Amino acid sequence: MHKRIHTLDEFVTNQIAAGEVVARPASLVKELVENSLDAGATRIQVQTELGGVKRVLVRDDGGGIEPDDLRLALAPHATSKIDQAGDLLGVSTLGFRGEALASIASVARVAITSRVAGADHGFVLEVHGGQEVSFGPRAHPQGTSVEVLDLFFNTPARRKFLKTERTEHNHVDQVLRRASLGHFDVSFELCQGSGRSPLVLAAGDPERRLGRVLSDAFVTRSVVVDELAGDFRLWGWVGLPTHSRSQADQQYFFVNDRAVHDKLVAHAIRQAYRDVLFHGRQPVFVLYLELSPRSVDVNVHPTKHEVRFRDARSVHDFIFSTLNRALRDVRPGSVPAPLTAVDTPSGLSAGGSGTRPTQASLGLRSTTHMGPPRGGAALAGLSLAEAFAAYATPLAAPIDGRLDVPEAASHVPPLGFALAQLHGVYILAQNDQGLVVVDMHAAHERITYEKLKQQSILNSVPQQRLLVPIAVDVSEREADLLEQVAETIAAIGLVVDRSGPQSLTVREVPALLAGADAQQLLRDVLSDLMEFGSSERIKNSRDDLLATMACHGSVRANRQLSIEEMNSLLREMERTDNAGQCNHGRPTFMLQSMGDLDRLFLRGQ
Ligand code: ADP
Ligand code: MG
Repeated sequence: MHKRIHTLDEFVTNQIAAGEVVARPASLVKELVENSLDAGATRIQVQTELGGVKRVLVRDDGGGIEPDDLRLALAPHATSKIDQAGDLLGVSTLGFRGEALASIASVARVAITSRVAGADHGFVLEVHGGQEVSFGPRAHPQGTSVEVLDLFFNTPARRKFLKTERTEHNHVDQVLRRASLGHFDVSFELCQGSGRSPLVLAAGDPERRLGRVLSDAFVTRSVVVDELAGDFRLWGWVGLPTHSRSQADQQYFFVNDRAVHDKLVAHAIRQAYRDVLFHGRQPVFVLYLELSPRSVDVNVHPTKHEVRFRDARSVHDFIFSTLNRALRDVRPGSVPAPLTAVDTPSGLSAGGSGTRPTQASLGLRSTTHMGPPRGGAALAGLSLAEAFAAYATPLAAPIDGRLDVPEAASHVPPLGFALAQLHGVYILAQNDQGLVVVDMHAAHERITYEKLKQQSILNSVPQQRLLVPIAVDVSEREADLLEQVAETIAAIGLVVDRSGPQSLTVREVPALLAGADAQQLLRDVLSDLMEFGSSERIKNSRDDLLATMACHGSVRANRQLSIEEMNSLLREMERTDNAGQCNHGRPTFMLQSMGDLDRLFLRGQ
């Protein structure tokens, strides 16, 4: 039996679109608020009744809609925001699909009133379930009001899916809070009726708004980030690890003013917090990624919550390295002390946007290029010393190296000879140009990673059998996944088998990582695997896995090294490819030449 094919009429197609765009009152509030923002509003007022099911009103003072365009505004695929397909490659407005108002109008009773600048009065258009009911003049200040009554009145089945008034109310509240973080220069008011106190967010001071939307505690217990690299800028606030939560409910990420949920972004942020956040805790952050609209595709999903980056890898690394550094920089006493009367050298000023002293090319076998200029990370709260200490692991593998003892000055190697270790984090060394500062974790991570890569290319990752196999509790999904890919990861030295529905046993680890915390190592590899999904992609992502593993086997902060150990690390760096940056693109060392230092101290001026 077969059925004939026919084209669906407009009413049905709108209802289908509505299914994607308007799932509940909060989603229509989101669309209407986005329209107001696109119209350049400075003040947006939202009122709801019965959680928005009975009534939603969104009023703005934006540019308004020409009377002749009102019908078009409610028509499907009608928009003022893009003209041609090419414009999809560089969308800079929140809307562009031209389907929100049409969808809403097909499942509710809608009245849209608008007045443009210079007009004597406004006009109103009323549409019930897609059918025009009336059109005519109406008094209205400049701007637009959209009133939506009886959502899903003509689709009772969908109405049943709505939750309690309280739940819908909370969703609307979230939508407004989220939108308000994307636009500090716009004031937002939300009045949800029935005895609830209104939410009023005045335009202006961002930190005041952060306090209202998240909490005052977040403002004091967060680090300000602002980093620029080429086309990318990342700025905002990241909560200290001590301000983490059990839920991922206070995480706001904007890409060019659009709030998005993106797996890649989430992964980069999780990685950045990995060393400082205990398992299962969720960071709190409000971050803004700015990049050319052409570098990001926003036309991925009707709700526009998802985006696709053209250069996903760079975006990931940029976010990771920026946050990783910001979090690492938070240490006791990292509030920079003013340097007497001298102008604060760039890079040292809290919250400033100075640049890091340049990492000179020292003739290493390195493809070193400077990392992004460093924005200041202002310490707003507590110290991280405890968190770092808790993660300090012993130096995994002895760094094979002869003892390099300082000899005649003519033999000074590129990275010089170690002088001391600074707060368990940096190695200070002297070469013939001046002072070399090495981030020992970053350096060791790179060395371990390069070695692992070498070994795995040769298909000979030396493994070390654990004397006592380590059992790790995981979810059933993780255990299933691991079973499927056990062979692939065994090839890179991690031998794990399933020991129960929800448990895995680590039997062997790469010899280079013998000292690492095997349980944490497996957890992180699993989190990568979950991210990659298919086993095909896992094969292609071998280097990512190796990088994750290398991070574990590497010297952590607060590990005391002897001068000999430091020197052998320096020699090892000189022998390693890409030693100028860690696996995440962070620099591993920098040089302050005597000239740099002289300038700092105004010598000879
Ligand atoms: P989109 O936002 O994707 O263009 P919509 O269906 O949400 O599609 O809106 C259709 C058009 O109606 C918009 O392109 C815009 O021109 C106009 N419009 C909607 N809301 C407003 C508003 N609050 N102020 C001014 N113009 C608006
Ligand atoms: Mg829109």
